[in-house]
Amino acid sequence: MSTPIVETQHLKMYFPVGRTFSGKPRRLLKAVDDVSFSIEKGKTFGLVGESGCGKTTVGRCLVRLYEPTDGRILFNGQDIARMGERELAPIRRRMQMIFQDPYASLNPRMTVSSIIAEPLRKSGMSRQEQLSRVRELVSLVGLKDDHMQRYPHEFSGGQRQRVGIARALASSPDFIVCDEPISALDVSIQAQVINTLESLQEQLGLSYLFVSHDLSMVRHISNEVGVMYLGCMVERAPVGELYAHMLHPYTKALMSAVPIPDPDLAAKTERIHLSGDVPTPIDPPSGCRFRARCPYATARCAQERPELREAAPGHFVACHLV
Ligand code: SF4
Repeated sequence: MSTPIVETQHLKMYFPVGRTFSGKPRRLLKAVDDVSFSIEKGKTFGLVGESGCGKTTVGRCLVRLYEPTDGRILFNGQDIARMGERELAPIRRRMQMIFQDPYASLNPRMTVSSIIAEPLRKSGMSRQEQLSRVRELVSLVGLKDDHMQRYPHEFSGGQRQRVGIARALASSPDFIVCDEPISALDVSIQAQVINTLESLQEQLGLSYLFVSHDLSMVRHISNEVGVMYLGCMVERAPVGELYAHMLHPYTKALMSAVPIPDPDLAAKTERIHLSGDVPTPIDPPSGCRFRARCPYATARCAQERPELREAAPGHFVACHLV
C-alpha cells in the first residue's frame, strides 16, 4: 500500500441553524459526522450517496473551502484542518476542485486564456511564460489554440468543463476534488470528460476524490469507493470488492436503483426498495441513521450507532447485522 496523499480522521462538519438571543446556534446541521478514509497517491477514491448525504461537504473540507468542526485532515501527512490562511496558501495550490456546473464556475466576461491564467498571476511568471503555460494546458485538456480567445458562452458543456479542468491544473496540483464533474453534461459527452480525467491522472500522477451519485461511473473511475448516508460513511472497500460483495443494506438499495440491461441478470439480482425520504441531518435518527428506511432494522439499531468495522480485508461496513 502506498502513502496516502490525503487522509481524514473522524471528520465532522456541523453548520449552525438559527441563532438564540445570545448568538448561540439554535440547532446544528450535522452535514458530516465522523468520516474517516484515505486516498493513495495517484489513485481515485469515489464517494457516492444520494444528494444531501454530505459527500460534497467532505470534498469542500478536504480542499479547505470549509474549516471542519472537528477531526483531522492530513495532506501529505500534515494536518491542515485548522491551519491559518498564510500557512495554507502554498498548500492550497496543490489541491484544486472541479465543479459540477462549469458555466457557473467560469467568469462569463473573461476569455478562456484569462480564466486559465488567473491562478498563474501570483506565481511570478512573466506574461510570455503564462501564455505558453496556458497554451500547454489548453492542449492537455483537448482544446485548441484558437479556443483561447473565446468566452465561456461560446462553448458546449463538455468544452466548458475542459476549461474548468485546465484552470484547476494551472497551479500544478497533486490532488483534485472532482465534484459531480459530469452530471450536468450530456451522456454522450460524459465518457469523453472521464477519459480526459483518466489520461491526465496517468500523465501527471494526480490523485482524485470523485464525488458522484452515478454508481456506474464511480465503478469505472475509482480504485476505492466510500458510500455515505446522512453524513456518515456506511461502507468502504476497494472497487472490485465493493461491487462484488456489497454488505450494507443502503449500498444494496443504491445499486438496486441502477437499471440492469440484461433481463436474466436483472431477475436474479436481489432488489431493495427504499421507502420514505432521507431524514433531515438537523435531527437525525438515534442509533443507525439508516434505520427509518432499512427493511432489516431491529431494536438495537435504534439504540446503538454501528461502528465502521472491517468485515473482510480492506472492506469496512457500519451495520449491526453484518
Ligand atoms: Fe439496517 Fe440496523 Fe444495519 Fe442500520 S444497523 S443498516 S438499521 S440493520
